[in-house]
Order: sequence, then structure tokens, then C-alpha cells
Amino acid sequence: MTLLVSLFIMNLDIIFKAKTPVKFGGAGKWKQDDASKLFSSSQSMKFSWVQGLICFDCGAAFDFQYLLKCTKCGGLLDLVYDLPQTNWADLTDNNFQGMWRFHKVLPIRNPAHIVTLGEGSTALIPAPRLARSIGIKSLYLKYEGTNPTGTVKDRTSSTAVSSAKQFGASAITVVSTGNAGASLATYAHRGEIPSVIFCYHRGDPIKMSHMSLMASKFCVFEGEYDDLIRSVDQCVEEGLAFDGGATRNSFKHEGKKTIAYEVTEALGTVPDFFFSPVAVGEIFIATYRGFDEMQQMGMVDRMPTLVCCQSMQAQPIVAAFQSGQPFRPTTIQPTIAKGVAVGDPGPKGPRVLEILRQHSGMALAVSDAEIQEAQSLLAESEGLWAGPTGVVSLAALIQAGRNKQIPSNSSSLCIITETGLTSPYPPAQGQVVKTSLEDVRRLFSCV
Ligand SMILES: [Zn+2]
Repeated sequence: MTLLVSLFIMNLDIIFKAKTPVKFGGAGKWKQDDASKLFSSSQSMKFSWVQGLICFDCGAAFDFQYLLKCTKCGGLLDLVYDLPQTNWADLTDNNFQGMWRFHKVLPIRNPAHIVTLGEGSTALIPAPRLARSIGIKSLYLKYEGTNPTGTVKDRTSSTAVSSAKQFGASAITVVSTGNAGASLATYAHRGEIPSVIFCYHRGDPIKMSHMSLMASKFCVFEGEYDDLIRSVDQCVEEGLAFDGGATRNSFKHEGKKTIAYEVTEALGTVPDFFFSPVAVGEIFIATYRGFDEMQQMGMVDRMPTLVCCQSMQAQPIVAAFQSGQPFRPTTIQPTIAKGVAVGDPGPKGPRVLEILRQHSGMALAVSDAEIQEAQSLLAESEGLWAGPTGVVSLAALIQAGRNKQIPSNSSSLCIITETGLTSPYPPAQGQVVKTSLEDVRRLFSCV
């Protein structure tokens, strides 16, 4: 009861803090450099340069607050920052670790609210043997498996739980197939915010064990995923918990934006092609925002060609892009890449499609066989073991190379989103040996 009352009070607070939305600059989509003029004076000395929120659909502007959708039209909201012309030395802060070195372009205003386990600053691994076999000049892998729970989700869990703390939420929730639930529960635990985590009963066992250890309340569901999402979204809108889902919370997805910053800082430029897996569209939209911000700040002069990578079993965005049709949710089939098994990504689906069309991007779908091939090839040629979801981007690059869809003198980057150590894999097949010195010595002769 106490929880309900405090959340109700928090909601009232949010409602009364919201000001009348400001409409600006005619009809159509907003541009972030125009949007920043709507807010107060330069904040370049502040911990975060964040200013407020803008509705992507109607252009209504809102003061900085926790808001999941436009109160005018129900549209998707984007965070707006006051971005000065700058350079790497002024943008980054090495007093902080990992992705929080980029706190000026993250939406947390008070460092005391940051909940972190050292996520970000992941390895950027050159993959020359893979590049040769694909037939391109250079390939880099942004390997997210070294994050604290082994996935890229830790970046968004950090910004989600930090935001929950910033806005005084009493609980946080997510519906997950594995990685997101384990990651969010871990960060909520770290931040001492109660978590309610839902996981499909066919989730990977090790991920479910992880979730059950970390979550305040771990719930296994058997019914329809879409029905559960609707119910949980309703509870979030009633203020029963902070939204830890990927479809609407603009504060949460900002963490993944730092991938674009880290890659560009390390390479000194942007790669020609940037391959991202797309489920709901968090990584794709967030990294697009990162590249767009760097252009506004004069740090890069071009955008990479963004490549949306989906599974053939769940490819609503690829299907719409390739057919030239408007976005439509689709029915999905089971895939080994459970993390991209989404047929209805919500409002971010049309947004991904629009970015692809505006910026001459590419959209590719890969089969489970291609995913398994990419997993093996990555292990054999570069010594890296990633999960099926983690290699969807690489499988798409291999396909694009085979079909001559990218020039041979180009550079590519694939985000490898997860370690392979938390996914099911075939049992090991070691050689049974005797233990005598002679038998052991003989084994070395063939190495
Ligand atoms: Zn709106």
C-alpha cells in the first residue's frame, strides 16, 4: 500500500511539473538542432547537457521530466541536448569509467544518481581474417560480451536504473526473453530499487537463474507475450513501476548511444557501414542519435551507412523497407536468435524505417543457418565466442559480402551484442585419453 501511495504521489508530481507543450517550426518531423533552441540558455558547464523532450511526431516540446509519450498526440519522445561545437577532450570526462565518460550527452543531471557496474568501454576488435574471407578492406567488431552481465543491455540498464533513481521511482519492471531481464534486475539490485522481472518460460536456463537471483520479484509467464506486454505497459502507465522496457522510454535507450561515441573515438572516424541487430530498434535508433549528435558538434562530417539486421523469422522492418510499404507488425516464427524475435516493435519500428529511408540505409534478414555459420566463423577465424543474437549483425555482413552489396574497399563495423557463455550450445566433444606419460606425450606430437 505504501508503494502504491508513494507512486501515486510521484505521478501527481510529474503531472504538475509538466508544462504546456510548445509547438514549433511548422508541421512535420523535428530536427534536433532546431529543437535545442526551444530550451533555456547554454548548459555547457553542466554535468549533463540534456534540456528536455520533443515529440518526434508532432514537435511538441516538454520540460525535462519522466514522460513516456507525447501528451498531445501519443507520439514517441526524444531527448534534446544543448550541443556545443566541441572535441573529444572537452566532451569526455576521464574521472568516470566506461560509458559514463560521456555523461554530458547522457540524461542524468546529478552524478549521485548514476548506477553503474563499469559498463561500456568495451573492446573494439579488428577482425582481419574475417574481413578477408568476406572480401572487404577492414572489419571491426564492437564486442559487448565484456559488459558486467555479458550483453549490450547493461548500457541501457544503467541509464534506466539511474533514471529511475533520478525521478524517485519506487520500482522498475521489464518483460524479457533473457538478457534484458537479467541485466535490468542486476542494475536494480545494485541501485537498491525493487525490480519486478517477467520472463518467458522457454527462456535460456542460465539467464533465468541469473534473473531469479537478482530480481526482487521474478515471474515466469506462459501465455501470449503481447498480452503480457499490454498488461505490464498498463501498470507502468498507472505509475506502479518505472518503465524498463525498450519500446518507449527515451531515458533508457540513451545508454546504447555511447557505442557510436566509443567506436568513433577509437577509430578517429566513422566506419563506412555500421551493422546493428534490430528487435525493437533501441540500438539502431540510439547509435543513429549518437552519430547525429557528433555531426552537430562538428566531431564527424558524415554518417555511416546504417544497416538494420533482423532474423528471417521476425523481419517486419526489413520487409517494409525492401517492399517500399509502410511499417506493419508481423507474426513471427521461432528463431535461435531470441533477442531479435519481435514482430511488433511498437512506435520505434516506424522510426527505424524512417531513419533507414532518410539516410539511404540498408536492411537485411538472415536465416538461423546463417546465424549459426556466423557464430562458428567468428570462433574459428577470430577466437571469439558469441551467442546467436550476438552475431545477427555479422551474419548480415557475411550475406551482404556474398551478394556484393558492399564495396570491397569499404570498412564495416558489427556490434556483437552478447557473449556466447550464457546461451545453450552443443555438449563438448573432447578426446578420451589415458593418463600415462607415454600416452600424454603422444598427444602433443600431432599439435
Ligand atoms: Zn506529439
